[in-house]
Formats: sequence, structure tokens, C-alpha cells
Amino acid sequence: MEYTSTRGQSKNLTFSEAVSEGLAPDGGLYIPASIPDISGKLEQWEGLGYADLCFEFLKLFADDIPEADLRKIVDSSYTRFDDPAIAPLRKLDNGLYLLELFHGPTLAFKDFALQFVGSLYEYLLSKSGKKINVLGATSGDTGSAAINGLLGKKNVNIFILYPEGRVSPLQERQMTCTSADNVFPIAIHGTFDDAQAIVKSLFGDLEFKSKWNLSAVNSINLARILAQCVYYVYAWLNLPKQERNNVMFVVPTGNFGNVFAGWLARKAGLPVKEFRVATNQNDILYKLFNSGVYEVSTVEPSYAPSMDIQVSSNFERFLYYFLNGDTAKVREIMSAFKREGKWVFDSFKTEEFSASRMSDSEISETLAKVYKELGVVVDPHTACAFKDLPADCTKVLLSTAHSAKFPELIEKTLSVHPTSESLEKLLNKQIVKTIEDADASKIRSFIEANGIM
Ligand SMILES: *Cc1c(COP(=O)(O)O)cnc(C)c1O
Repeated sequence: MEYTSTRGQSKNLTFSEAVSEGLAPDGGLYIPASIPDISGKLEQWEGLGYADLCFEFLKLFADDIPEADLRKIVDSSYTRFDDPAIAPLRKLDNGLYLLELFHGPTLAFKDFALQFVGSLYEYLLSKSGKKINVLGATSGDTGSAAINGLLGKKNVNIFILYPEGRVSPLQERQMTCTSADNVFPIAIHGTFDDAQAIVKSLFGDLEFKSKWNLSAVNSINLARILAQCVYYVYAWLNLPKQERNNVMFVVPTGNFGNVFAGWLARKAGLPVKEFRVATNQNDILYKLFNSGVYEVSTVEPSYAPSMDIQVSSNFERFLYYFLNGDTAKVREIMSAFKREGKWVFDSFKTEEFSASRMSDSEISETLAKVYKELGVVVDPHTACAFKDLPADCTKVLLSTAHSAKFPELIEKTLSVHPTSESLEKLLNKQIVKTIEDADASKIRSFIEANGIM
């Protein structure tokens, strides 16, 4: 099976090559050149456990990896989840389903992708004999999920920069209490933007980049998307048969990676009626689906910070399909968008998507209402899924993070203290981090001293 760039000017690659490459040389994102049909397999997959289903699904896409190897990669990816179902589907008293995606090591759905990507990287490096240094900047969530995906993996060290004193104490613990010797959390005196600027400048130094095999864990990697398709199939298979015909998945959305994965599963033959793109007040996608206007705006920090985005990097993947594979048009739109920060579609109505948005005050109200009426404490990202739901379908709401990751807001709103066993355990562990000035040359020296080669 081949993978092709959304911009049509890079050569097609195998799965392993596309994963190693990340971004295509023409600036596009990799997508499957043809999509396998799973509709005839669903019956066979009935009753499979999560890792078994993941293997069956991914072997259709990762067909250049020998099956026995893929089996091992998948099996090692879902061992650190604290629920035997991995992605339990829970029916609420009002008939809604919650798909709990927060049972991984960092208590958010990004673990589904990054635990797999970590195992996959280790495998691909063992085959190529290469060693890499992963470098990234984080304002909290992605960095901790990436660290937890790569910790203890061979032939890779990971350096994550974050602004000292500006990530939540919990997020800091998730990054700094790993006791893994290939993990280097670096708190810098500065902001997230300073951290990101340093990362950019080190990647821009091509000699340094190639000498140290610098690599990113970006949200656009193909393997992340494919790993995320699996829980949509799993959720669908775990619905009662009579509720499978008319399913809407409601997805708290930022970079459009999660909901795109669901859409790809549908494209492969999973019978889903509709996807709801649930945004917070940063509503670029809400506006797109409702008015056809795709326009950058400034980010307003919200109660659901992992959805505070300016542009959705994975949107280009859907655009490719929306334009029926017209790569020249994808290039035209993406370059106009980059230039002007705006593109107006004649119409962006699709049958498969609708969108909603939620303000911070609505998030607070929803947290309270869901707790009072349904007895469930959800996190502020998940709360966004409870907006304007239609009556006549089965609704599966993706619960993207554990409420214990947001103790201040939950306590303030509900007067309960959300907790989780794995977070409690972290409190007893020692924080190991480096504190540095926001100075690219200092970070460069640090990597020279601690990088793997
Ligand atoms: C990353 C994240 C999101 C947004 O997911 P996308 O794939 O970027 O759309 C939503 N909720 C939580 C808790 C997240 O960490």
C-alpha cells in the first residue's frame, strides 16, 4: 500500500517511509493512496479486545511491516492503560454514550497515538540502525504524551522545552517524574513562544539538525491518525446492534486529527452517519462548517486549553478528499491561506460533518449540569461535546481527558476533588528537570552534551 502527499508533488512512499518522513517534501501531509475496505470485516471483528482489533485494523495500512512484528508493536503499545477495556464505552442515564479515552499514562486520548508511535519508532530505528533525538516545545499536553510514548525506548532521546512555571503542576510531573534516562525535560525562563522559537531555530540549523538526527513528534504524523481510527471501530462494535445504524460521533476538536481519524474509518467502511466537530470559543472550524469561511484568528485562552488553536493542521487531509483529490486545488488553497490567513469556500456543507462551539461560561454550566443530572464528572474538553445534540440518532461522545487533569476548574465548579490513581502515584516521585535560559545556544550545548549518537 502506498501513501501519497495531499499536495501531489512528492513521490509515493510505503507506510514506514511515510511515518519516518513526517511532513512530505512538498509541504503536504501523507494520506493512504487508496483506502482498504473494512465493511466486510466488521462482523469478524465483533468481540475482539482492543489490541487485537488494533492489530487487525493496522495490518491493512502498515502492510510493509511483517505481521509478527506489527503484532509485537501493537501489543506493547496498550500495556500502560489503567482499564482492561483500554477504551471503555459507557452508557449514561440519558442514553448518551461516553467513549472514555483517558485511561492511558497521561490521562488523555493522545496516548492512544503516542504510545503506538513510540513503539513504532523504536522498531523502525532498530531496522534502520539509526539513532534520533526528538526535540519539541510544549505548553503541556502533547509534550507529556510524547515523553510517555518514548520513555525507555532504545536509540532515541527526547528533549522537551516548556515555559518554567507556566505549565500545570500535574503536567510538569508527567514530564519530569518519569525516571527514564532518555528523557530530558527542559524548563526555560520564558514563554511557550520562546520555547517554540528555540526549537525552530535549532531545526533551522541544518548542519546541527543532520548531525544529531533531530526529529519532531508533530501532530501531523500519519501513524498517529491511523492509531486513532481504531477506537472509532472499537466503539461502534461495542454498541448494541440495534443502535449501530444511525451513529453520530461527537468529537472535542482542535487540530482536527481526532475527528479526521474517525472520518477516515468511515471512508474505510465503518457505518457512521455523522461527525460533530465540537469546538470551544476558538471556533475557526465551527465557522468553516457553518459558513464556508476558513479564517485564522487570534487564540483566546479557554477552559479547554488543548483545543486552543489558531489553525487546524490536519484539516488539509480532509481538504484533499473534499476536493476529490485535486492536489493543484489543495496547493492553491493552502498557499492562499498561508498568504492571506483566509479562504472562502462557495460552500462547505457536507453530509458527514456538523459543528458546534462552546464558550467558557457554557463549559462551566455544562460541567455542573452533567454532574448534577448524570452523576458524571467530565473534563472541560469533553464538556464541549454536550452542545446542541440532535435527538434522532445514537450519540457517542469522545471523552478526551480525565477530569483529574483540571482540578482547579472542577473544584471551583463542582466542589469535588477529581482524582486518579496514576496521578496520585506521581506525587510521590522525584522531579528531574533542567532549568535553562531561553537561549538557543544553551539548548544546543545541552543537546550536544546529552544527545544520543
Ligand atoms: C489534543 C486534544 C484535543 C484536540 O484534539 P485534535 O486531534 O487536535 O482535534 C481535545 N481534547 C484534549 C483533551 C486534547 O488533549
